Amino acid sequence: GGGPGQSDLNQKIRVCVRKRPLNKKEIDRGEKDISPTAGIRSININEPKTKVDLTKYIEQHSFTYDDVFDYDAANDQVYQRTAQPLVKYIFDGGKATCFAYGQTGSGKTFTMLDPRYGLYVLAARDIFHMLRQPEYQHLTAWIGFYEIYQGQLYDLLNNRKKLFAREDGKKNVVIVGLKEYIIKNVDDLMQVFEYGSQARSTGSTGANSDSSRSHAILQILLKPAKSRKKIIGKLSFIDLAGSERGADRGDADTKTSDENGDKIKEKDKRRFLIQRHMYIRMEGAEINKSLLALKECIRALDQDKRHTPFRQSKLTQVLKDSFVGNSRTCMIATISPNQSNSEHTLNTLRYADRVK
Ligand code: ADP
Ligand code: MG
Repeated sequence: GGGPGQSDLNQKIRVCVRKRPLNKKEIDRGEKDISPTAGIRSININEPKTKVDLTKYIEQHSFTYDDVFDYDAANDQVYQRTAQPLVKYIFDGGKATCFAYGQTGSGKTFTMLDPRYGLYVLAARDIFHMLRQPEYQHLTAWIGFYEIYQGQLYDLLNNRKKLFAREDGKKNVVIVGLKEYIIKNVDDLMQVFEYGSQARSTGSTGANSDSSRSHAILQILLKPAKSRKKIIGKLSFIDLAGSERGADRGDADTKTSDENGDKIKEKDKRRFLIQRHMYIRMEGAEINKSLLALKECIRALDQDKRHTPFRQSKLTQVLKDSFVGNSRTCMIATISPNQSNSEHTLNTLRYADRVK
Protein backbone atom coordinates (compact mmCIF):
# COMPACT_ATOMS: atom_id res chain seq x y z
CA GLY A 1 0.00 0.00 0.00
CA GLY A 2 0.84 3.69 -0.23
CA GLY A 3 1.38 6.25 2.49
CA PRO A 4 -1.01 7.15 5.27
CA GLY A 5 -4.59 7.33 4.14
CA GLN A 6 -3.70 5.94 0.74
CA SER A 7 -5.20 2.76 -0.59
CA ASP A 8 -3.49 -0.24 -2.16
CA LEU A 9 -3.13 0.24 -5.91
CA ASN A 10 -2.88 -3.49 -6.56
CA GLN A 11 -6.23 -4.64 -5.29
CA LYS A 12 -8.33 -6.83 -7.57
CA ILE A 13 -11.12 -4.26 -7.50
CA ARG A 14 -10.75 -0.55 -6.91
CA VAL A 15 -13.57 1.94 -6.77
CA CYS A 16 -12.81 5.63 -7.05
CA VAL A 17 -14.89 8.78 -7.30
CA ARG A 18 -14.10 11.83 -9.40
CA LYS A 19 -15.89 15.12 -9.06
CA ARG A 20 -15.81 17.58 -11.95
CA PRO A 21 -15.64 21.36 -11.40
CA LEU A 22 -18.74 23.56 -11.59
CA ASN A 23 -19.13 24.74 -15.18
CA LYS A 24 -19.84 28.28 -16.32
CA LYS A 25 -23.59 27.75 -16.67
CA GLU A 26 -23.84 26.39 -13.15
CA ILE A 27 -21.81 29.24 -11.73
CA ASP A 28 -23.94 31.77 -13.63
CA ARG A 29 -27.05 30.20 -12.17
CA GLY A 30 -25.54 30.68 -8.72
CA GLU A 31 -25.27 26.97 -8.03
CA LYS A 32 -23.11 25.75 -5.19
CA ASP A 33 -20.72 22.85 -4.86
CA ILE A 34 -22.55 20.46 -2.58
CA SER A 35 -19.46 18.42 -1.73
CA PRO A 36 -16.92 21.02 -0.64
CA THR A 37 -15.06 18.55 1.57
CA ALA A 38 -13.94 15.83 -0.83
CA GLY A 39 -10.90 14.25 0.83
CA ILE A 40 -8.30 11.72 -0.24
CA ARG A 41 -10.61 8.77 0.27
CA SER A 42 -13.88 10.15 1.51
CA ILE A 43 -16.53 12.51 0.30
CA ASN A 44 -19.37 14.27 2.09
CA ILE A 45 -22.43 15.40 0.22
CA ASN A 46 -24.70 18.12 1.53
CA GLU A 47 -28.00 17.35 -0.08
CA PRO A 48 -30.28 20.36 -0.11
CA LYS A 49 -33.86 19.36 0.70
CA THR A 50 -37.07 21.30 0.62
CA LYS A 51 -39.72 20.15 3.04
CA VAL A 52 -43.43 20.57 2.59
CA ASP A 53 -43.39 23.61 4.84
CA LEU A 54 -40.79 25.06 2.47
CA THR A 55 -38.07 25.33 5.10
CA LYS A 56 -34.87 24.24 3.52
CA TYR A 57 -32.59 21.90 5.33
CA ILE A 58 -29.51 19.97 4.48
CA GLU A 59 -28.92 16.29 4.88
CA GLN A 60 -25.32 15.13 5.02
CA HIS A 61 -24.14 11.85 3.53
CA SER A 62 -20.67 10.46 3.92
CA PHE A 63 -18.96 7.83 1.75
CA THR A 64 -15.53 6.22 1.62
CA TYR A 65 -13.82 4.79 -1.49
CA ASP A 66 -10.37 3.65 -2.52
CA ASP A 67 -9.72 7.15 -3.83
CA VAL A 68 -11.66 10.38 -4.23
CA PHE A 69 -10.49 12.94 -6.78
CA ASP A 70 -11.61 16.48 -6.21
CA TYR A 71 -12.62 18.98 -8.92
CA ASP A 72 -9.05 20.15 -9.44
CA ALA A 73 -7.46 16.74 -10.05
CA ALA A 74 -5.92 16.50 -13.52
CA ASN A 75 -6.32 13.42 -15.69
CA ASP A 76 -2.75 12.32 -15.09
CA GLN A 77 -3.27 12.36 -11.33
CA VAL A 78 -6.36 10.26 -11.79
CA TYR A 79 -4.44 8.02 -14.17
CA GLN A 80 -1.67 7.26 -11.68
CA ARG A 81 -4.13 5.83 -9.19
CA THR A 82 -6.54 4.12 -11.58
CA ALA A 83 -5.35 2.88 -14.99
CA GLN A 84 -1.58 2.98 -14.53
CA PRO A 85 -1.42 -0.03 -12.19
CA LEU A 86 -3.53 -1.90 -14.76
CA VAL A 87 -0.94 -1.28 -17.49
CA LYS A 88 1.74 -3.04 -15.46
CA TYR A 89 -0.68 -5.83 -14.80
CA ILE A 90 -1.46 -6.64 -18.45
CA PHE A 91 2.26 -7.02 -19.19
CA ASP A 92 2.21 -9.83 -16.65
CA GLY A 93 -0.48 -11.55 -18.69
CA GLY A 94 -3.57 -10.22 -16.97
CA LYS A 95 -6.84 -8.79 -18.17
CA ALA A 96 -7.91 -5.45 -16.80
CA THR A 97 -10.90 -3.18 -17.14
CA CYS A 98 -11.35 0.46 -16.27
CA PHE A 99 -14.92 1.81 -16.20
CA ALA A 100 -16.37 5.28 -16.02
CA TYR A 101 -19.81 5.23 -14.44
CA GLY A 102 -22.05 8.24 -13.87
CA GLN A 103 -24.73 10.61 -14.95
CA THR A 104 -24.53 12.20 -18.40
CA GLY A 105 -22.42 15.35 -18.16
CA SER A 106 -20.47 14.23 -15.09
CA GLY A 107 -17.16 13.64 -16.89
CA LYS A 108 -17.06 10.00 -18.03
CA THR A 109 -15.85 10.72 -21.54
CA PHE A 110 -13.54 13.49 -20.35
CA THR A 111 -11.92 10.96 -18.01
CA MET A 112 -11.71 7.90 -20.21
CA LEU A 113 -11.81 8.94 -23.84
CA ASP A 114 -10.78 12.57 -24.08
CA PRO A 115 -8.98 12.53 -27.46
CA ARG A 116 -5.85 14.07 -25.96
CA TYR A 117 -5.78 13.52 -22.23
CA GLY A 118 -8.14 10.60 -21.68
CA LEU A 119 -6.86 7.71 -19.57
CA TYR A 120 -6.61 5.61 -22.72
CA VAL A 121 -3.99 7.97 -24.20
CA LEU A 122 -2.03 8.15 -20.97
CA ALA A 123 -2.08 4.36 -20.73
CA ALA A 124 -0.94 4.02 -24.35
CA ARG A 125 2.11 6.19 -23.64
CA ASP A 126 3.16 3.80 -20.90
CA ILE A 127 2.32 0.75 -22.98
CA PHE A 128 4.53 1.87 -25.86
CA HIS A 129 7.29 2.74 -23.44
CA MET A 130 7.11 -0.81 -22.06
CA LEU A 131 7.02 -2.30 -25.57
CA ARG A 132 10.35 -0.64 -26.33
CA GLN A 133 12.02 -2.50 -23.46
CA PRO A 134 14.08 -5.56 -24.49
CA GLU A 135 11.95 -8.02 -22.51
CA TYR A 136 8.79 -7.04 -24.38
CA GLN A 137 10.14 -6.76 -27.92
CA HIS A 138 8.23 -9.90 -28.88
CA LEU A 139 4.87 -8.21 -28.23
CA THR A 140 2.70 -5.95 -30.38
CA ALA A 141 -0.28 -3.76 -29.47
CA TRP A 142 -3.68 -3.91 -31.16
CA ILE A 143 -6.79 -1.84 -30.77
CA GLY A 144 -10.47 -2.71 -31.04
CA PHE A 145 -13.31 -0.22 -30.47
CA TYR A 146 -16.97 -1.11 -30.32
CA GLU A 147 -20.21 -0.02 -28.81
CA ILE A 148 -23.10 -1.73 -27.08
CA TYR A 149 -26.38 -0.08 -27.90
CA GLN A 150 -29.73 -1.64 -27.01
CA GLY A 151 -28.10 -4.98 -26.31
CA GLN A 152 -26.46 -5.08 -29.74
CA LEU A 153 -22.74 -4.77 -30.56
CA TYR A 154 -21.51 -2.37 -33.27
CA ASP A 155 -17.97 -2.17 -34.57
CA LEU A 156 -16.87 1.48 -34.44
CA LEU A 157 -13.83 0.71 -36.59
CA ASN A 158 -15.84 -0.96 -39.32
CA ASN A 159 -18.86 1.16 -40.33
CA ARG A 160 -20.88 0.11 -37.31
CA LYS A 161 -21.00 -3.46 -38.51
CA LYS A 162 -23.09 -5.63 -36.19
CA LEU A 163 -21.01 -8.01 -34.14
CA PHE A 164 -21.74 -11.15 -32.18
CA ALA A 165 -20.13 -12.47 -29.06
CA ARG A 166 -19.45 -16.14 -28.41
CA GLU A 167 -17.25 -18.20 -26.19
CA ASP A 168 -14.41 -20.34 -27.53
CA GLY A 169 -13.30 -23.72 -26.13
CA LYS A 170 -11.04 -22.02 -23.60
CA LYS A 171 -13.84 -19.86 -22.24
CA ASN A 172 -12.49 -16.74 -23.87
CA VAL A 173 -15.09 -14.33 -25.19
CA VAL A 174 -14.69 -13.88 -28.93
CA ILE A 175 -16.31 -10.91 -30.63
CA VAL A 176 -16.79 -12.44 -34.04
CA GLY A 177 -15.74 -10.15 -36.89
CA LEU A 178 -14.37 -7.36 -34.69
CA LYS A 179 -11.88 -5.34 -36.66
CA GLU A 180 -8.60 -4.84 -34.84
CA TYR A 181 -5.80 -2.55 -35.92
CA ILE A 182 -2.17 -2.96 -35.08
CA ILE A 183 -0.75 0.19 -33.50
CA LYS A 184 2.92 1.12 -33.36
CA ASN A 185 2.76 4.34 -31.36
CA VAL A 186 0.45 6.79 -29.61
CA ASP A 187 -0.27 8.69 -32.84
CA ASP A 188 -1.50 5.50 -34.52
CA LEU A 189 -3.81 4.90 -31.61
CA MET A 190 -5.16 8.45 -31.60
CA GLN A 191 -5.88 8.28 -35.31
CA VAL A 192 -7.73 5.01 -35.10
CA PHE A 193 -9.60 6.27 -32.06
CA GLU A 194 -10.64 9.48 -33.83
CA TYR A 195 -11.96 7.44 -36.72
CA GLY A 196 -13.99 5.27 -34.37
CA SER A 197 -15.34 8.20 -32.36
CA GLN A 198 -16.96 9.62 -35.46
CA ALA A 199 -18.88 6.39 -35.88
CA ARG A 200 -20.05 6.48 -32.29
CA SER A 201 -22.63 9.20 -32.56
CA THR A 202 -24.18 8.03 -35.82
CA GLY A 203 -27.35 6.03 -35.33
CA SER A 204 -27.52 2.95 -37.52
CA THR A 205 -31.28 2.54 -37.45
CA GLY A 206 -32.38 6.12 -37.70
CA ALA A 207 -32.94 6.13 -33.96
CA ASN A 208 -30.59 8.47 -32.17
CA SER A 209 -27.91 6.57 -30.39
CA ASP A 210 -26.06 9.43 -28.80
CA SER A 211 -23.14 8.60 -26.58
CA SER A 212 -25.17 8.94 -23.40
CA ARG A 213 -27.15 5.84 -24.33
CA SER A 214 -24.46 3.43 -25.37
CA HIS A 215 -21.52 1.76 -23.70
CA ALA A 216 -18.27 2.36 -25.60
CA ILE A 217 -15.53 -0.23 -25.22
CA LEU A 218 -11.98 0.55 -26.29
CA GLN A 219 -9.57 -2.33 -25.96
CA ILE A 220 -5.81 -2.41 -26.14
CA LEU A 221 -4.51 -5.93 -26.66
CA LEU A 222 -1.00 -7.29 -26.29
CA LYS A 223 -0.23 -10.14 -28.65
CA PRO A 224 2.94 -12.00 -29.64
CA ALA A 225 4.28 -10.43 -32.85
CA LYS A 226 4.13 -13.85 -34.50
CA SER A 227 0.64 -14.94 -33.56
CA ARG A 228 -2.26 -12.55 -33.74
CA LYS A 229 -4.68 -15.14 -32.42
CA LYS A 230 -3.11 -15.32 -29.01
CA ILE A 231 -3.85 -12.65 -26.46
CA ILE A 232 -1.27 -12.03 -23.75
CA GLY A 233 -2.84 -9.05 -22.02
CA LYS A 234 -5.96 -6.98 -22.47
CA LEU A 235 -6.84 -3.55 -21.13
CA SER A 236 -10.38 -2.28 -21.69
CA PHE A 237 -11.57 1.29 -21.24
CA ILE A 238 -15.31 1.52 -20.89
CA ASP A 239 -17.30 4.71 -21.16
CA LEU A 240 -20.66 3.52 -19.85
CA ALA A 241 -24.07 4.85 -20.86
CA GLY A 242 -25.43 7.62 -18.63
CA SER A 243 -26.60 6.19 -15.32
CA GLU A 244 -29.61 8.51 -14.99
CA ARG A 245 -33.04 7.03 -15.43
CA GLY A 246 -34.52 6.56 -18.89
CA ALA A 247 -36.86 9.52 -18.67
CA ASP A 248 -34.03 11.94 -17.86
CA ARG A 249 -31.86 10.54 -20.59
CA GLY A 250 -34.62 11.24 -23.09
CA ASP A 251 -35.40 14.81 -22.09
CA ALA A 252 -33.12 16.49 -24.55
CA ASP A 253 -34.62 14.57 -27.45
CA THR A 254 -38.17 15.33 -26.59
CA LYS A 255 -37.35 19.02 -26.55
CA THR A 256 -35.70 18.87 -29.95
CA SER A 257 -38.69 17.19 -31.47
CA ASP A 258 -40.91 19.81 -29.88
CA GLU A 259 -38.99 22.61 -31.53
CA ASN A 260 -39.36 20.95 -34.90
CA GLY A 261 -42.99 20.43 -34.08
CA ASP A 262 -44.28 23.53 -35.87
CA LYS A 263 -44.08 21.74 -39.17
CA ILE A 264 -45.77 18.58 -37.98
CA LYS A 265 -49.50 18.38 -37.33
CA GLU A 266 -50.52 18.35 -33.69
CA LYS A 267 -51.83 14.77 -33.92
CA ASP A 268 -48.67 13.46 -35.57
CA LYS A 269 -46.60 15.29 -33.05
CA ARG A 270 -48.42 13.61 -30.22
CA ARG A 271 -48.05 10.20 -31.78
CA PHE A 272 -44.38 10.84 -32.34
CA LEU A 273 -43.88 11.85 -28.75
CA ILE A 274 -45.67 8.78 -27.42
CA GLN A 275 -43.57 6.49 -29.63
CA ARG A 276 -40.49 8.35 -28.64
CA HIS A 277 -41.39 8.02 -24.99
CA MET A 278 -41.97 4.26 -25.23
CA TYR A 279 -38.73 3.86 -27.10
CA ILE A 280 -36.81 5.76 -24.47
CA ARG A 281 -38.36 3.65 -21.74
CA MET A 282 -37.28 0.43 -23.46
CA GLU A 283 -33.85 1.82 -24.04
CA GLY A 284 -33.62 2.97 -20.44
CA ALA A 285 -34.69 -0.44 -19.19
CA GLU A 286 -31.89 -2.04 -21.21
CA ILE A 287 -29.31 0.37 -19.83
CA ASN A 288 -30.52 -0.02 -16.26
CA LYS A 289 -30.44 -3.79 -16.64
CA SER A 290 -26.85 -3.77 -17.86
CA LEU A 291 -25.63 -1.38 -15.15
CA LEU A 292 -27.33 -3.50 -12.53
CA ALA A 293 -25.80 -6.69 -13.94
CA LEU A 294 -22.40 -5.01 -13.98
CA LYS A 295 -22.66 -4.14 -10.32
CA GLU A 296 -23.71 -7.67 -9.43
CA CYS A 297 -20.87 -9.23 -11.42
CA ILE A 298 -18.21 -7.03 -9.85
CA ARG A 299 -19.62 -7.73 -6.41
CA ALA A 300 -19.64 -11.45 -7.04
CA LEU A 301 -15.97 -11.23 -8.06
CA ASP A 302 -15.05 -9.48 -4.89
CA GLN A 303 -16.75 -12.11 -2.81
CA ASP A 304 -15.35 -14.96 -4.93
CA LYS A 305 -18.82 -16.29 -5.53
CA ARG A 306 -19.33 -19.43 -7.59
CA HIS A 307 -22.19 -18.04 -9.57
CA THR A 308 -21.77 -14.74 -11.35
CA PRO A 309 -24.70 -13.45 -13.39
CA PHE A 310 -22.78 -12.68 -16.60
CA ARG A 311 -25.69 -13.75 -18.81
CA GLN A 312 -27.96 -11.00 -17.52
CA SER A 313 -26.78 -8.39 -20.03
CA LYS A 314 -24.74 -8.04 -23.19
CA LEU A 315 -22.29 -5.80 -21.36
CA THR A 316 -21.45 -8.40 -18.75
CA GLN A 317 -21.44 -11.18 -21.35
CA VAL A 318 -18.71 -9.54 -23.38
CA LEU A 319 -16.73 -8.69 -20.25
CA LYS A 320 -16.91 -12.17 -18.81
CA ASP A 321 -13.34 -13.18 -19.66
CA SER A 322 -12.06 -9.91 -18.26
CA PHE A 323 -13.57 -10.79 -14.92
CA VAL A 324 -12.67 -14.43 -14.46
CA GLY A 325 -9.15 -15.68 -13.87
CA ASN A 326 -6.33 -13.13 -13.73
CA SER A 327 -8.26 -9.93 -13.70
CA ARG A 328 -8.34 -6.47 -12.24
CA THR A 329 -11.11 -3.92 -12.31
CA CYS A 330 -11.14 -0.22 -11.59
CA MET A 331 -14.35 1.74 -11.50
CA ILE A 332 -14.32 5.52 -11.65
CA ALA A 333 -17.64 6.97 -10.58
CA THR A 334 -17.92 10.49 -11.96
CA ILE A 335 -20.12 13.05 -10.26
CA SER A 336 -21.33 16.58 -10.86
CA PRO A 337 -20.78 19.07 -8.03
CA ASN A 338 -23.93 21.18 -8.35
CA GLN A 339 -27.12 21.25 -6.34
CA SER A 340 -29.59 20.44 -9.05
CA ASN A 341 -27.83 17.13 -9.75
CA SER A 342 -27.69 16.05 -6.13
CA GLU A 343 -30.10 13.17 -6.61
CA HIS A 344 -28.09 11.72 -9.48
CA THR A 345 -24.90 12.28 -7.54
CA LEU A 346 -26.23 10.36 -4.57
CA ASN A 347 -27.41 7.54 -6.82
CA THR A 348 -23.94 7.30 -8.34
CA LEU A 349 -22.24 7.33 -4.96
CA ARG A 350 -24.57 4.63 -3.68
CA TYR A 351 -23.99 2.48 -6.75
CA ALA A 352 -20.22 2.80 -6.36
CA ASP A 353 -20.53 2.06 -2.66
CA ARG A 354 -22.35 -1.19 -3.35
CA VAL A 355 -19.94 -2.38 -6.02
CA LYS A 356 -17.44 -3.33 -3.35
P1 ADP B 1 -20.18 12.50 -19.78
O1 ADP B 1 -19.32 11.75 -20.73
O2 ADP B 1 -20.23 11.86 -18.42
O3 ADP B 1 -21.55 12.78 -20.32
P2 ADP B 1 -18.35 14.64 -20.35
O4 ADP B 1 -17.07 13.92 -20.15
O5 ADP B 1 -18.78 14.86 -21.73
O6 ADP B 1 -19.52 13.93 -19.52
O7 ADP B 1 -18.24 16.01 -19.54
C1 ADP B 1 -19.20 17.05 -19.63
C2 ADP B 1 -18.50 18.40 -19.73
O8 ADP B 1 -17.77 18.69 -18.53
C3 ADP B 1 -17.49 18.45 -20.86
O9 ADP B 1 -17.54 19.73 -21.43
C4 ADP B 1 -16.16 18.22 -20.16
O10 ADP B 1 -15.10 18.81 -20.86
C5 ADP B 1 -16.38 18.87 -18.80
N1 ADP B 1 -15.63 18.15 -17.75
C6 ADP B 1 -15.92 16.93 -17.29
N2 ADP B 1 -15.06 16.56 -16.31
C7 ADP B 1 -14.20 17.58 -16.15
C8 ADP B 1 -13.08 17.82 -15.28
N3 ADP B 1 -12.69 16.90 -14.37
N4 ADP B 1 -12.43 19.00 -15.41
C9 ADP B 1 -12.84 19.91 -16.31
N5 ADP B 1 -13.88 19.76 -17.15
C10 ADP B 1 -14.56 18.61 -17.08
MG1 MG C 1 -19.90 11.01 -22.60
